[in-house]
Amino acid sequence: MLYCEKCRMMAENGRCDSCKGKGPLRQPLDNDPVLLAKTDQVSAAMLEGILQDEGVPFLKEGRMGAGMTTWAGGMLEEYSFYVPYGVLNQAAELAKVVFDGAPDPLAEDALEDEDMEELEELTEQEEEDMPF
Ligand SMILES: [Zn+2]
Repeated sequence: MLYCEKCRMMAENGRCDSCKGKGPLRQPLDNDPVLLAKTDQVSAAMLEGILQDEGVPFLKEGRMGAGMTTWAGGMLEEYSFYVPYGVLNQAAELAKVVFDGAPDPLAEDALEDEDMEELEELTEQEEEDMPF
């Protein structure tokens, strides 16, 4: 897989989807920063903790910058995580824990679950009313 210097992303199929092939592509070096994930502040904090625990070096960049974060409230911030190409696979495995893992039991998701069940019931009723 080739590396897009402009976007700091891996370009699949020989073309960078992010800049539509405008950036220069080359073979990645072990210390090239590669975009691992873009995420909100909550997931960013989790990911940061996991990467630190595992000793994976990374760069974290906020989209809006520090001053803007304070003004807009941290929850609106989006963070981009970059890791050296050499540890990309390892970092991607760790990131799965954050993005595919179980929901945080401390989060207020009990209410959301109820909403989901209601939604499912509504959907089922609608299906029964279908004439066919
Ligand atoms: Zn690109």
